Amino acid sequence: GEVLLEVKDLKTYYPIRSGILQRVTGYVRAVDGVSFTIEDGETLGLVGESGSGKSTTGRSILRLTQPTGGEVWFQGKNLLRLDEREMRPMRRHLQIIFQDPYASLDPRMTVGQILEEPLLVHGVEDRAERRRRVQELLEVVGLGAYHMHRYAHEFSGGQRQRIGIARALALHPKLIVADEPVSALDVSIQSQVLNLMQDLQEQFQLTYLFIAHDLSVVRHISTRIGVMYLGRLVELGPSESVYDEPLHPYTQALLSAVPVPDPEAKRERIVLKGDVPSASNPPSGCAFHPRCPHAMDVCKTVRPEWKQVAPGRFVACHLHA
Ligand code: SF4
Ligand code: MG
Repeated sequence: GEVLLEVKDLKTYYPIRSGILQRVTGYVRAVDGVSFTIEDGETLGLVGESGSGKSTTGRSILRLTQPTGGEVWFQGKNLLRLDEREMRPMRRHLQIIFQDPYASLDPRMTVGQILEEPLLVHGVEDRAERRRRVQELLEVVGLGAYHMHRYAHEFSGGQRQRIGIARALALHPKLIVADEPVSALDVSIQSQVLNLMQDLQEQFQLTYLFIAHDLSVVRHISTRIGVMYLGRLVELGPSESVYDEPLHPYTQALLSAVPVPDPEAKRERIVLKGDVPSASNPPSGCAFHPRCPHAMDVCKTVRPEWKQVAPGRFVACHLHA
C-alpha cells in the first residue's frame, strides 16, 4: 500500500523539575528516536509495557502532546512544523480513541451533543445536517439513534467505547490512533469492539495505529506489529512474521506470555528479571541489557542500531547485527 504517514526520529522528552526553584534537572525520554511508516488501510499494532512510550508516540503524532524533535509526514506536510491554525484542517483526518471511554466523555453532555461537537468545531453549519450525521454515527457503531438524548454514564463500558469510536469517526478521518481501546473492557466485550473496529475499517477505508500492552490483543487486528521498549522501537515487521519468528529477545519474552490455543505449540515461558527501568535514566548500550537472557558484553556499552534485516523486518539487537 501507499504510505499514509511517516514518522522520522520522533522524540518526546518531558522535563523533570525539582527543588524549590523547580529547576529542570533531567528529562524523561518518553519517546526517544522512533521511526516507522503507516500504510494506507493497514493496522499497525504498537505494543509494549506501560512506560514504553507507545501512548506518547500516538499522542505526539496527533500533536496532543508536543514532541521535542523529529518529523511526522502526512499529506506532504510535516505536522510538527505546522502552527495551530495550519494544523486544524489536518486534525479532521487524524483522530483518537482513548483507553477509558468514560473519562474521555463529558458527563454533562448528552451523546448527541458529544457527537455534534466535532461537527460544530469543524464548521458543519447546518443543524439538520449535524443531526443526520449524529444519527448515522450512532447506527454505524451499533447503537440506535434513539440513544441521542442519554448521558454517557447511562451506558455500559462497551457502549461508551462505541460512543468514543463514533466521535472519532464524525469527520471521516483517515487515521485513527486507538490507544488501548479495549483494555478497560470485560474480555467478553473486547472481541465485540475489536470486530466493530475491523468492520468500520473496511467500510470507511480507515487506517489504525493500534496501541496495546498485550500482544494477544493486536494479533488478529494488525497487519504489522511494532514492539517498543523504553521509548524506542526494538522490532517491527509483518504480524505473522513477528509472531512466528520474533527476533528481539524482548519480543520473544512478551510472546512467551501469550496463551496459545494449541498446547503442542506451547512456547517455553521466558520470565524477565527485574522491572522496566526508568526512562529518565535508561541503561547504557542496549536499554534492555539488564533484563535480557542473551546479553553479551557489547550490549552494555554499544546501543544496537535499528536495522532492516529482511524485507520489512526491522530489529535493534546485537544478535542480528
Ligand atoms: Fe539482548 Fe544484547 Fe540484543 Fe539487547 S542487544 S536485546 S541485550 S542481545
Ligand atoms: Mg498508555
